[in-house]
This record gives sequence, structure tokens and C-alpha cells, in this order.
Amino acid sequence: MTLSAYDLTGRTAFVTGAASGIGRATAALLAVAGATVHCADLDERGLKETAALIARDGGTAHTHALDVTDRAALAAAVRSAGPLHVMAAIAGIMHTSPVLETRDEDLDRVLAVNFKGVLYACQEAARSMIASGTRGSIITMASGAMDTASPGLLCYSVAKAAVVQLTKTLATEAGPHGIRVNAVAPGWIRTPMTDRHEPAAQEQAEAAMVRHSPLGRVGEAEDIAHAVLHLASDASLFTTGQILRPNGGVAMP
Ligand code: NAD
Repeated sequence: MTLSAYDLTGRTAFVTGAASGIGRATAALLAVAGATVHCADLDERGLKETAALIARDGGTAHTHALDVTDRAALAAAVRSAGPLHVMAAIAGIMHTSPVLETRDEDLDRVLAVNFKGVLYACQEAARSMIASGTRGSIITMASGAMDTASPGLLCYSVAKAAVVQLTKTLATEAGPHGIRVNAVAPGWIRTPMTDRHEPAAQEQAEAAMVRHSPLGRVGEAEDIAHAVLHLASDASLFTTGQILRPNGGVAMP
């Protein structure tokens, strides 16, 4: 036995949401593991920073400025990457509104980015992996919100629950091609997404995390990147259709 199962040298990975937070940390870690990493995001400046980070550590990165809700743009970017071994569909947005104040456009936007954007990434990745026979790994980004209820989180929770169904369903369909499909469902992670919360709400959530986690701390983007690396690598070759929950052991209600 060796630890070389985590070595991604010679593999190609595609990461959406790579300009910030969990996506950036994941792109950087996959590059450290040896993969050539294709970084996609809306945020061109953030993408450049991620690519510079990867280059600084001796890795190889390509950037694709695109909106994951644009199926054609995503398909073209995935095709341009060549035979794909890893897809990490991480791009997502937060939205909060009470049920009674939720507008059609709120629901449509959250589902478009957090569900359809993941669906398109999964579809394009699976097509590439099937066509090239790479027997790759697809990782989606769910959330602890996928199966819990919190005030204001209807749209976000529904989209994340849909991501879980997508993950499990695609795992059953892509398995015969040797393709694994798993989700990561983080707890509260300190990233620009959670930094955008109102300070009082953020402080309250972080304090609750520290109080309820047996590990007594808030999660960092790197904690989630390591979970993605595990699922991307040959260390998890017999794992598919699963939801990995790096949440500090917080028992969700
Ligand atoms: P973040 O805001 O730091 O990063 C999200 C990235 O997605 C940004 O770079 C943003 O530009 C990109 N993005 C948003 N919409 C896009 C679009 N339409 N097309 C392309 N790129 C787009 O947030 P994060 O905390 O790193 O979140 C990453 C993922 O992890 C999200 O799916 C989020 O729902 C999930 N998640 C986060 C937490 C947390 O506590 N931070 C917990 C559970 C799940």
C-alpha cells in the first residue's frame, strides 16, 4: 500500500466556482496533487488570482470566465479541457428570504445556479468521461441545508436537496462506465459566501458551530477541499452515490 492513490499527476480536473472560497481551495489542492486544473467562474479577477496561486505552487491552471447557467459556454469549456478525469461542480449562491416573501425570480435564480449549473457540469463531465473512457470522478457541492430546515433558506435548501438527487441518480447511471458521482455537504464554512452574512447573524452562526461541534471550531475552505480531493482520487475508487459531510460533527436538527 502507498499513498500514491492521492496522486493526480496526468489527470485533468475541472472546477466550477474556482474564483473564491471552497472552489478556489479545491482547485489549488487538486493542482498540488498533480492535476492540470481548469478553473471556471463568473468572476474573472478571482479566477486570475486562483490561477496565480496555483502557478506560484508550481501547478498548471487554465481559466474559463463563464456563467454555469450558460449550458453552451460550459460545454465548450469542458470540451476544450480534453479528456476529463475530475469534475468538481462547486459554484453556488446563497439566498435568504422567508417563504411568504419568496418571489418567482428568487427561486428561479437559485435553482438555475445551484441546481441547473451543477446539472450541466455533471452532464458535460459525464459525456467527456464516457467518450474518452477515463472512468472519472464527479463531485457535487451540496450543503447541510439539503436535509435541514432553517428560516429563510427554502430556495437554497430545495436546490441542495435537488443536487443530492442528481448525484445519487447519476451515480446509478454512470457507474457502468466506471464513473463515480458523490456529493460533499459541508457545514458552516468560513468563506466569502458566509462573510457576506450580516455580521450579527454570522457571529451567531459561528458561535453555534463552535458550541455544537465536538471539534469546537468553524470549518475552513481547505477542510472541504480535502474532502473533494479524497473523492476525486483513487483513494475512493469503491465510493459512489454517497454524501460526505465535513461539518465538524455537528448533529443537525
Ligand atoms: P463563495 O461565494 O466564496 O464562492 C462561490 C463562487 O461561485 C464564487 O466565486 C462565485 O463567483 C461563483 N459563482 C456564483 N454564481 C456563479 C455562476 N452563475 N457561474 C459561475 N460561477 C458562479 O462561496 P463558497 O462558500 O466557497 O461556496 C461554494 C459552494 O459551497 C457553494 O455551492 C455553496 O452553496 C456550498 N456551501 C458553502 C458552505 C459555506 O458555509 N460556505 C456550506 C455548505 C455548502
